[in-house]
Amino acid sequence: MNETQKQAGAEHFDVVIVGAGISGVGAGYHLQDQCPDQRFAILESQESFGGTWLTHKYPGIRSDSDLYTFGYRFKPWTGAPIASADEILKYMGEVIEDNRLDQHIRYQHHITAADWSAEKNVWSLEGTRKDTGEKVYFTANFLWMCQGYYEHSEGYTPKWPGMEDFKGKIIHPQTWPENLDYQDKNVIVIGSGATAATLAPAIAADCAHVTILQRSPTYFIPGRNENELADRLRVLGIDETWIHEIVRREILYNQDLFTHRSFEEPEAVREELLGAVREYLGPDYDIDKHFTPRYRPWRQRIAFVPDGDIFQGINAGKASMVTDEIERFTEKGIQLKSGEELEADIIATATGFNLCVLGGISFSRDGEPIDFAKTVTYRGMMFTGVPNMVWIFGYFRASWTLRVDLIGDFVCRLLNHMKANGVKSVAPALREQDSDMPLLPWIDPENFNPGYLMRSMHLLPQRGDKPEWQHTQDYWLEKEELPKIDLEDEAFVYR
Ligand SMILES: Cc1cc2nc3c(=O)[nH]c(=O)nc-3n(C[C@H](O)[C@H](O)[C@H](O)COP(=O)(O)OP(=O)(O)OC[C@H]3O[C@@H](n4cnc5c(N)ncnc54)[C@H](O)[C@@H]3O)c2cc1C
Repeated sequence: MNETQKQAGAEHFDVVIVGAGISGVGAGYHLQDQCPDQRFAILESQESFGGTWLTHKYPGIRSDSDLYTFGYRFKPWTGAPIASADEILKYMGEVIEDNRLDQHIRYQHHITAADWSAEKNVWSLEGTRKDTGEKVYFTANFLWMCQGYYEHSEGYTPKWPGMEDFKGKIIHPQTWPENLDYQDKNVIVIGSGATAATLAPAIAADCAHVTILQRSPTYFIPGRNENELADRLRVLGIDETWIHEIVRREILYNQDLFTHRSFEEPEAVREELLGAVREYLGPDYDIDKHFTPRYRPWRQRIAFVPDGDIFQGINAGKASMVTDEIERFTEKGIQLKSGEELEADIIATATGFNLCVLGGISFSRDGEPIDFAKTVTYRGMMFTGVPNMVWIFGYFRASWTLRVDLIGDFVCRLLNHMKANGVKSVAPALREQDSDMPLLPWIDPENFNPGYLMRSMHLLPQRGDKPEWQHTQDYWLEKEELPKIDLEDEAFVYR
């Protein structure tokens, strides 16, 4: 069979979900639960499920938010709040097995192109099987994009002068080699985010020394990796389903308070965060230099540090902080702008991600390329003029998965509404009252400004200044608003 014949014989589904990470598996669950008559497939590039938790294999890889809220609302989490990638994969594996989702997932299916036909009201998808190299073709009435937000094959490493001179190894944590020998080696970890804070303590005991080199400091919340309320309820023999719900509510209530406080009294919150670090490192440590960020709390994700392990490494003399800028790489290590030279056998660049908008797929409408940067987002999940497609982009300040469940309910309601009304397509469009609405970049840098978003803002859809036309990043608002969205609002154009 030639490619044209194969394309003509493309397998059809009511819904295709792209990606089998925490979003795609959640989407599959909700679809099966709330729209049992929709035939669907989950197409996933990698050889297994898990997305982020499968891709990242560096030592110590763990969540930085609690699993009571990072877990789905429908499957109780029964372990310690902060979980390793393996524990998250086990949890997701149980969701797949318990709900027989495996029959819907096609692994090694990398989707490369998607074209919407206005005449047929279907998406035609094209991809490649990563194991055989064979081309694959599908059609779908509805496309549910759960492809995450970054390039899975390679992390972001800035180009520094002299990198080629360095005689040791330069490794990005996202592509950490399985058998990397760091025993008794001097390691520099460049970065100050959650990855650096996880990796450094995980390897410190085995290395000769780990230096965390950061340009500027980050906020951390140190604390015990336990949830007192959950433990207490377990002692009382309460059912795990109840514990999950109660503990989620408590955590979300506290996070809401914390978020509001960080806007209303940033100085007090800042002092509390720094005070907790000071408790670990003592009064003589230079907290100002190494742990006092220049930005307001909550403008970037704040990582929880279980048992303050990074600070314990510092206290034990196995890890140290350097806050400085890189002048260049040298044969032996890194020359800093201050003049100091750091020596290393291995340099780990925990410098973030390459943003990948919509899975790197070439989207078109009747053969005309779609430029997402020219579209306006409907609540950070749909795009003006792009029919029958929803994207899951979770929360930064709350667990990503909270939005997976909320959008899951929305999509299922929308699909059921379309079926009941016999309509074939829906696309958001600006309404008359939106005609003079200012169009702004995807996210307000004053509100949240991680590097991978700032570097790629020009590729992302635009937002308006009303909650309908932006990803508000506000779980507490959305949990009230999303279930009440009027599907007959003029923002939805049906055909
Ligand atoms: C190290 C690390 C720790 C994190 N910790 C937390 C945390 O504690 N709490 C939190 O809320 N968030 C955290 N995040 C953010 C995290 O990425 C999300 O919370 C969540 O895991 C994203 O899930 P996802 O399913 O949307 O995307 P991903 O996990 O990125 O999964 C997307 C999947 O789609 C597949 N895919 C992509 N493109 C295609 C294509 N074209 N064709 C087929 N398949 C495709 C990918 O292979 C991948 O498996 C963390 C991120 C990282 C990198």
